[in-house]
Amino acid sequence: MIKKLLIANRGEIALRIVRACKQLGIQTVGVYSSADKDLMHLRFCDEAVCIGNAPSTQSYLSIPAILTAAEVTGADAIHPGYGFLSENADFAEQVEEAGLSFVGPHPDHIRLMGNKVSAIHAMKQAGVPTVPGSQGTITLHNAEEQARAIGFPLIIKAAAGGGGRGMRVVERFEELINQVQAAKTEAKNAFGDDTVYMERFLKNPRHVEVQILGDGDGNALHLFDRDCSLQRRHQKVLEEAPAPGIADDIKQPILDACVRACEQIGYRGAGTFEFLYENEQFFFIEMNTRVQVEHPVTEMITGIDIIVEQLKIAAGYGLSYHQDEITIRGHAMECRINAEDPKTFMPCPGRIDNLFAPSGAGVRFDSHLYQGYSIPSYYDSMIGKLICHAQTRKQVVQKMRHALDELIIEGIKTNATLHRDVILQDEAFTEDAQNIHYLENHLLKNDCK
Ligand code: ADP
Repeated sequence: MIKKLLIANRGEIALRIVRACKQLGIQTVGVYSSADKDLMHLRFCDEAVCIGNAPSTQSYLSIPAILTAAEVTGADAIHPGYGFLSENADFAEQVEEAGLSFVGPHPDHIRLMGNKVSAIHAMKQAGVPTVPGSQGTITLHNAEEQARAIGFPLIIKAAAGGGGRGMRVVERFEELINQVQAAKTEAKNAFGDDTVYMERFLKNPRHVEVQILGDGDGNALHLFDRDCSLQRRHQKVLEEAPAPGIADDIKQPILDACVRACEQIGYRGAGTFEFLYENEQFFFIEMNTRVQVEHPVTEMITGIDIIVEQLKIAAGYGLSYHQDEITIRGHAMECRINAEDPKTFMPCPGRIDNLFAPSGAGVRFDSHLYQGYSIPSYYDSMIGKLICHAQTRKQVVQKMRHALDELIIEGIKTNATLHRDVILQDEAFTEDAQNIHYLENHLLKNDCK
């Protein structure tokens, strides 16, 4: 087993990883920037090391700083969490070259999936359905020909894209060249790579994704699916599992295809295949080669601790389950709680004057917040995840409403009111899953987007 694990992350996921390590008897090293010495998980880690200044480029994104911290503490493994360096193939490679275990896939697979054009190509070959789109990358020379074949509207996306950035919808042929040019410039500035590709723009799809685990030796399994359609600016706001209202005979071939694809490439660790789902068809858009923010909803319906499984796989123990041992129990939903103004969506860091975390049967609050804690302004505004589990989706909605009523966070503004007063009161949402535009086009249409 891993003896000592360095957690190359902060906030709720760092605390979540500490808990999984305790479960397995693994010692922990926390790292923190100069703005983060008050992080809650540091109190529970066996050791804590300051790795640099507040800006993440000088701390959580600094490969030398993290590797040095691992070396001085004698850690034998690194968990990258999500965000930061979690999908950086060079980081994974350097971790392994330093003789440590990287809790994640082989660097080659991070690289393969990190470029969406190569990811889509690999998935097509593995028999996973993809969005009709360009053959490889788009240049100013081939854009018109490729666009004619795809049809309008289409969406231009950055091959190196992430976080919902760098996407442009093109409605008409006349706009195409300008938009390709603008997308390339944007991609270059945001990701340092101007490679773009095109896909048919699906009008009203849902975002449905599949959680998988692979042992790196050609064995893989799935932990079913999630619906993450409620998004703002392509960022997930609320997630649930399983994806409601999709017949088993439509879902099963996709779950099987994801497992097959992982087995074919010998994928190691946790991963997520993201799809758009429209008219009873699935279209692959990308694979995330790390644990997702929304992994708890899958844990609640399967009873499987995904971080524990990541650690066991990284330590060479393989998969703890057979596919036929994994079943769905009930339904789960997660509300992301962000430190932001619910009207303007501007980040709203500050001091937590008062906190009450909801609890009770089937209620889970994954958060590093505590009374008196000051949220620094340097990092992502997500400060917690409220997760509820019950027998049916209707019961989960009911439970989530009550849990949100109980949640008290004073001193800063949060989006909890958006969940409580808008989303969970909306009849169409509570009756059924909605498409990716629903939150922005229906629930927020009178507000500042
Ligand atoms: P990122 O890696 O930046 O998150 P994704 O490829 O995962 O980018 O897409 C993010 C979101 O953008 C999707 O969940 C969906 O809402 C929207 N999107 C992406 N591709 C398409 C498409 N072809 N048609 C319609 N919407 C899309």
